[in-house]
Amino acid sequence: MVPRAGPSKRSLSTQITYLAIAAATALLAVVVMLASWAVMRIDERALERENRFVQVGLEEVFERLPKEQDSSAIWDEAVLSSRANDGAWLDENLVEWMGAYYDHDQVFLLDPRNEPVRAAKDGSNVDPTIYEEVRDLVQPLVARLRAAMQAASAGMEDSTEAITGLGEIDAVAFDGGAAIISIRPVVPSSAAVTQEPGTEFLHVSLLRLNEPVIRQISQKFSLQALGFSLTPTETPGYASQPLFNTSGRIVGFFNWLPDRPALELVSQTAPVVVLGILAGLIALALLLLRLRRTSSKLEVSEAHAQFLAFHDPLTGVPNRALFEDRLERALATMRRTGGKIALHYIDLDRFKHVNDTLGHPAGDELIRQAATRLSEMLREADTIARLGGDEFAIIQVDPADHLGVEAQCERLLRAIDEQFDLGGDVARVGASIGVVIADDPSVTPRDMMRQADIALYEAKAAGRGRYRLFAGEMDETVRGRRALERELRAALREGTGLQLVYQPIYGAMSGALLGAEALVRWEHKELGLLAPDQFISIAEERGLIEPLGLWVLRTACRFAVTSNIPWIAVNVSPMQFSDENLAARVLDVVAQSGLPPRRLEIEITEGLLLQNSPVVQETLRKLRAAGVRIALDDFGTGYSSISYLRTYGVDKLKIDRSFVEQLGQGKDIDSIVKSIIDLARSMRMQVTAEGVETVAQQQLLVGMGCNQLQGFLLSRPLPEADLATQLSLDAHGQLRIGAGNQN
Ligand code: C2E
Ligand code: CA
Ligand code: CA
Repeated sequence: MVPRAGPSKRSLSTQITYLAIAAATALLAVVVMLASWAVMRIDERALERENRFVQVGLEEVFERLPKEQDSSAIWDEAVLSSRANDGAWLDENLVEWMGAYYDHDQVFLLDPRNEPVRAAKDGSNVDPTIYEEVRDLVQPLVARLRAAMQAASAGMEDSTEAITGLGEIDAVAFDGGAAIISIRPVVPSSAAVTQEPGTEFLHVSLLRLNEPVIRQISQKFSLQALGFSLTPTETPGYASQPLFNTSGRIVGFFNWLPDRPALELVSQTAPVVVLGILAGLIALALLLLRLRRTSSKLEVSEAHAQFLAFHDPLTGVPNRALFEDRLERALATMRRTGGKIALHYIDLDRFKHVNDTLGHPAGDELIRQAATRLSEMLREADTIARLGGDEFAIIQVDPADHLGVEAQCERLLRAIDEQFDLGGDVARVGASIGVVIADDPSVTPRDMMRQADIALYEAKAAGRGRYRLFAGEMDETVRGRRALERELRAALREGTGLQLVYQPIYGAMSGALLGAEALVRWEHKELGLLAPDQFISIAEERGLIEPLGLWVLRTACRFAVTSNIPWIAVNVSPMQFSDENLAARVLDVVAQSGLPPRRLEIEITEGLLLQNSPVVQETLRKLRAAGVRIALDDFGTGYSSISYLRTYGVDKLKIDRSFVEQLGQGKDIDSIVKSIIDLARSMRMQVTAEGVETVAQQQLLVGMGCNQLQGFLLSRPLPEADLATQLSLDAHGQLRIGAGNQN
């Protein structure tokens, strides 16, 4: 199929690019999302663990403090010394000792009335009155403990067992920070000492949550930059955990720099990962770039190949394939919307001459320029194509009328008529144009092409530099011709109705029957016997001339091979020569019939030679090489020149009937005929005069030296059987000139 303007294919590579970018972006987004989710989750877990560590660290302090107190407060000596108010012992073992040995910040011994009897601060004995600074903080704990002790030991004589292990502990805000206060009863360590409920001394320790305590926690649990403050820290990146007292109030906050293992891992590996992603993106970009380049290269070369497939490489105009497609479409449009189409076949005259004398590059240049000139004469909707060699075709869409078409022909002829400048050389060629105008919906592209070809042939035959409109189809008798065409087709298919008659040709001097020309007849069911003039042109226009021509050739050869006729002449239409394989076909038929090729003569017309076609030249050369003789029919009516006779090589001239008819009526015609005969003889060609009807004509021709005679005077065209009879008579020497008169 021929390409039409469609959506650009360029979008393919763009689409792939977009797709790849989208996929890469999506992938990257998913990876980043997953990674950050994982980082968050891992770091959250790490934080949870650290929160627990702070808790545990604090709990350890809460556990340690009472134990440290009990190490001295559960002791018989301590009970006795308290009762005795042995200041020195108490300081050394119970009060100062706790500060010095365990780093309790403040230590008090309270008597059964809850008044301080001994006090120590930072490991040194101090006046018990400093208790006033903390009394409000300690008092609630003291009250609770006393209540608990009372409850546990109610109605007992000795409270020792009931209250051992009791205590109160709580976190409190203290001195701009926090502290833990722990209170334990002083109890005997053995049964040797007893204690009446309500007579117990209390041991109070206050431990500030200061730097050393916190450092212990942070070192034990590897918590970074652990600190304590009354309000949560606002330092970015820090975590906080509130410290509650037993009644659920916030005392302050632990702050630390949380460990973020995942984030750390990510930030450590980030450069590598980023580099990797970057490398991946660069690779992707390169890949896409390459894809785009290759695909755009492919697109370009595809478009180029498409163009080459449908355009003539020399001129860049559409070639035959595209031309046929356009014609088909123009006809389809015409069928839909009405209107007309004109098809011009244009053939340059004397192009071969330019090629031969100035060389092929000049010839190519001329073709290029001609294509340009013709293109410039066209409207947008029209199509020009190069069909080959020096042949162009133009599809003229919707011409106003036949005058519009003719005006176009004039313009085209004038354009080609201008001198061509071929880079150094100048040349003038002309053109011949055959045109057909179609407005009949049933017409096919093949019809139009054939009809334009016929018109072109007629234009050339009429002399060059002119155009001819194909007239056949415009005729009133179109319908009759259509019917004839159908019937001729059927006749050819079924082999009925067609027949040959044979008109003998005689030796001018001897009167001997030399050969015969086969002439076709058609026995039509309704119209009777039809002469070739009534159906040959239809066959030519409708593409039937090839099968008809081959039928005539086959029939004539079969007859010749079964008779003793020296040779048989067969008319071949110029249209048949557009088949490049004509020579092979003819020789094939001859060979199949068994007739030696030298017993066959082919009659061609001058118009054929005027086409000046290398194909025709080659066909004739092949036929002659095989032994077939070539006769130039109707000689003198056309424009043939001696140079053509030389170029083509012809064996015989047949002087046209119109000359013979006028012989003896004026010096002019007589001398023309005489010079034709002389020309033929000088070129060693035979010469036949056709249409000899009178004895006077016969005598003149014989006198002029004509070789062969053909005409009603000698014999009318004869049916096969009659000619056979003639031949056997002639073989017996009884047939002589004049015998044809009886027919
Ligand atoms: P042509 O080749 O010039 O054939 C001679 C024509 O002149 C024949 O007409 C013949 O009957 C006629 N003729 C012969 N002697 C005389 C005469 O003394 N006086 C007159 N007035 N006419 C004479 P026909 O058979 O009607 O053929 C007409 C043309 O049809 C032929 O002209 C030839 O060009 C063409 N033709 C005939 N048969 C074939 C064929 O098989 N193939 C092709 N392509 N064309 C054919
Ligand atoms: Ca003939
Ligand atoms: Ca003739």
